[in-house]
Amino acid sequence: MSTPAYAAETPKSSLAPWTIERRAPGPNEVQIEIRYCGVCHSDIHQARDEWGRGIFPMVPGHEIVGEVGAIGSAVTRYRVGDTVGVGCFVDSCRECGACHDGEEQYCTAGMTATYNSVERGTRTPTYGGYSTRIVVDENYVLRVPASIPLDRAAPLLCAGITVYSPLRHYGLKAGDNIAVVGLGGLGHMGVKIARAMGAKVTVLSTSPSKREDALALGADAFEATSEKLTFRKLAGKFDFILDTVSAPHDYNAYLGLLRRDGTMILVGMPDQPVPLAAGPLIMGRRRLVGSLIGGIRETQEMLDFCAEHDVASDIELIPANKINEAYERMIKGDVRYRFVIDCASF
Ligand code: NAP
Ligand code: ZN
Repeated sequence: MSTPAYAAETPKSSLAPWTIERRAPGPNEVQIEIRYCGVCHSDIHQARDEWGRGIFPMVPGHEIVGEVGAIGSAVTRYRVGDTVGVGCFVDSCRECGACHDGEEQYCTAGMTATYNSVERGTRTPTYGGYSTRIVVDENYVLRVPASIPLDRAAPLLCAGITVYSPLRHYGLKAGDNIAVVGLGGLGHMGVKIARAMGAKVTVLSTSPSKREDALALGADAFEATSEKLTFRKLAGKFDFILDTVSAPHDYNAYLGLLRRDGTMILVGMPDQPVPLAAGPLIMGRRRLVGSLIGGIRETQEMLDFCAEHDVASDIELIPANKINEAYERMIKGDVRYRFVIDCASF
């Protein structure tokens, strides 16, 4: 099936209209008519090949929501017309310990990413959600609860699960103090989800102009990181720090804000390494950890949690031809708080 898409032909080119072929669904596959696709900073890192090993032309997009348009003969979990989502991966080996544990994102044979990857078996490139249709194995498809507005649900498939998973894994509790660093797509979901888990949330941001928004999103406090006093004032305060920043910055300064045994979680993935001093970790037995998206089971749990707690993304809906502009604005930190492509605009 000939399907319109937006693609980066090379790491140096802007995204432009392109046409891809989507196969008819196999026995276990679901064909999804994509309604909306969120724009993640990882799309920019990959479309510009900042992490290396990019496969071009590239059709980004891994925050996909839409309706089931057709199903294969053996599909049991979905019917035509169901509202569904697809996140950052569409397959994994299904045999390793991680896959057995429902942590497919850590598949030791490597997950098959929704784009910028190759399919198991055929080795053909995968193309993502900046398009109108995708075909995915039913085991890697999520059910989107009806109570979440569909356009505002799209960012949950990456931004939502990326913050939800480590907060659960590392044990954020009601009443804990957490700092969310960077108020962009991931950061604003971090505020909402941590708040829904009962934590007290402080936003640490380079953009003083986001103060009002941060409080409206549910943060208890906002502190500008440009103020030197901020780091003195907040020293030793937090049980957790969730760092969502997309560009290199000094982790050491933030580690000092953790209390004894506190945990700083890196989810933002800058393209350059940052020097780390042992001191702030040793003094206070602090932890510096990372986390990658979340597995299928946990992603479904997150979607149901968001429905239950009335959590959805704050979005700016754009037509596909505004995607390059959206990238430029995101790089400047000018996103409130996720761009979502309206796929009817293709
Ligand atoms: P985003 O919407 O562009 O937000 C990033 C925010 O970081 C900006 O809004 C800005 O917030 C802050 N920031 C940007 N440049 C900065 C700088 N030089 N110094 C300090 N702060 C800066 O990006 P996103 O989509 O949330 O993604 C964030 C990062 O997470 C990206 O690196 C992305 O690849 C990564 N990611 C990781 C996973 C995972 O599984 N671990 C999943 C998805 C995305 P303020 O204006 O508030 O400072
Ligand atoms: Zn993403």
